[in-house]
Amino acid sequence: MKAVPMVKPTSQSLQHESAALRHATFEDLIREMILRIGEDPSREGLLDTPQRVVKSMEYLTHGYSQQPADVVNDALFTVDYDEMVIVKDIEMFSMCEHHMLPFFGKVHIAYIPNGKVIGLSKLPRLVEVFARRLQVQERLTTQLAEAIQEIIQPQGVGVVIEARHLCMMMRGVEKQHSAAITSAMLGVFRKQATRHEFLSLLRQKPTNGF
Ligand code: ZN
Repeated sequence: MKAVPMVKPTSQSLQHESAALRHATFEDLIREMILRIGEDPSREGLLDTPQRVVKSMEYLTHGYSQQPADVVNDALFTVDYDEMVIVKDIEMFSMCEHHMLPFFGKVHIAYIPNGKVIGLSKLPRLVEVFARRLQVQERLTTQLAEAIQEIIQPQGVGVVIEARHLCMMMRGVEKQHSAAITSAMLGVFRKQATRHEFLSLLRQKPTNGF
């Protein structure tokens, strides 16, 4: 078998490559990937794998076809309530954009209304819009906080994400049991007292698995 030369692709060779690949279907690309890792795509167990992977990739990245406004609809309600609203332990599954491997965990969202609240079931759907894309945990956290700020226009919003990254856990990086924690605080949540209240409310009950 001829060794593939390790040459860094120039932009010209990338253009050439993408022109050649343009006519390949997504399934073709997966079949090619199976070949390149040394497997036989015509083996019985792998025959339908390209179609399955394509379907699964489409689902795992369906956030690209959604906008925050799509999931919120008209679920904003006028209220006379200005205490903190917290939704804890929202399940989150995403894929890291560096390795295209899953990272997953819990999202905690808090905000202090400014005359409006959002239907509680909308927050998990909002998480989906941003999580079902190629992401880094930091950006996911910020995008969620900014979207909530824009939609509800509260006095402030706080988002905390605790997640485990398979790219760390499966690839022999040592921190196999560590969870990465990120937070984004906007508006009144930048004040220490508010942020402190949010974080201590989160600590009240241990969240599953962390
Ligand atoms: Zn990664």
